[in-house]
Amino acid sequence: MLEQENRTQTAAVEATTELWAFFRGEYVPLCDANINVMTHGFNYGTAVFEGIRAYWNADEEQLFALELVPHYQRIRASARLLMMEIRQSPEELAEITLELLRRDGLREDVYLRPIIYKSSETIGVRLHNLDADITIFGVPFGQYIDTEGGIRAQVSSWRRVDDNAIPARGKITGAYVNGALAKSEAQLNGFDEAIVLTADGHVSEGSAENLFIVKRGVLITPPVTDNILEGITRGRMMEIARDDLGIQVLERSIDRTELYGADEVFLCGTGAQISPVIEIDRRKIGGGRPGRVTRDLSRIYFDAVRGRLPAYRSWLTPVF
Ligand code: PMP
Repeated sequence: MLEQENRTQTAAVEATTELWAFFRGEYVPLCDANINVMTHGFNYGTAVFEGIRAYWNADEEQLFALELVPHYQRIRASARLLMMEIRQSPEELAEITLELLRRDGLREDVYLRPIIYKSSETIGVRLHNLDADITIFGVPFGQYIDTEGGIRAQVSSWRRVDDNAIPARGKITGAYVNGALAKSEAQLNGFDEAIVLTADGHVSEGSAENLFIVKRGVLITPPVTDNILEGITRGRMMEIARDDLGIQVLERSIDRTELYGADEVFLCGTGAQISPVIEIDRRKIGGGRPGRVTRDLSRIYFDAVRGRLPAYRSWLTPVF
């Protein structure tokens, strides 16, 4: 199902010149947004990126871009880690993204990929004295992982990159080899997703999602010091849990075996949305099906991102 969608997505991108990219300061057809093989970011993974969603609301015939400015604030922070500055502010990048979406004219869910990369075409491992540029493009996008029935996960044999190796709080392209190693190991072993531990053995996150557990009615998630990406969705989950569901939220380290004994586990992120985890390392979580808190958070989140909850309209920017 997801593979089918991935193929469709690739075909859609290849077949069309209708999709646009913001590239080298202008809007160009996506098929013309190409970099040279000597580009530093391509050679050394010296780039930072974001994943942003825009949700189609058929009733309102409107596309809602989700959390544009927070994503551009985060990419700017990631870029600074790699000694890159670009001239546009987060608000200006949000405007560029809206223009891109209007040009694309897609009337369906979209996934946007901004990348700030070392654009110098030169050999040499370093961060300083190199040019940086930004590119942004969007593609039609449905599910990334299952959000309804629940997924089966494996604790990975790969450990999460450490803050003193490659900072996980920056969304650095090169560091995603870490997530890719974990995800492929899990999928080739017959699981849907990987859960990655820190070097000292605490639960960090999924391959590209933050992790929450529910135990005795309390929502618990690893702190930002356990080598997680500080997810925007993670922040929203904590907000909804406290404000809408009246649930206590704790940010604290989680041991591996706490996962096995949790009442509920779920992963969340812009791409993943909310994905209940119903089995870990062949042990059923809770009742072996999505739990109450996960379902409540999920219902509110999906209504919010499609613009159905006035209280959360501030997360969204209408495109048209
Ligand atoms: N962790 C990692 C490693 C990720 O790549 C992502 C996706 N950006 C997340 C967590 C979730 O972050 P967000 O909710 O901001 O998309």
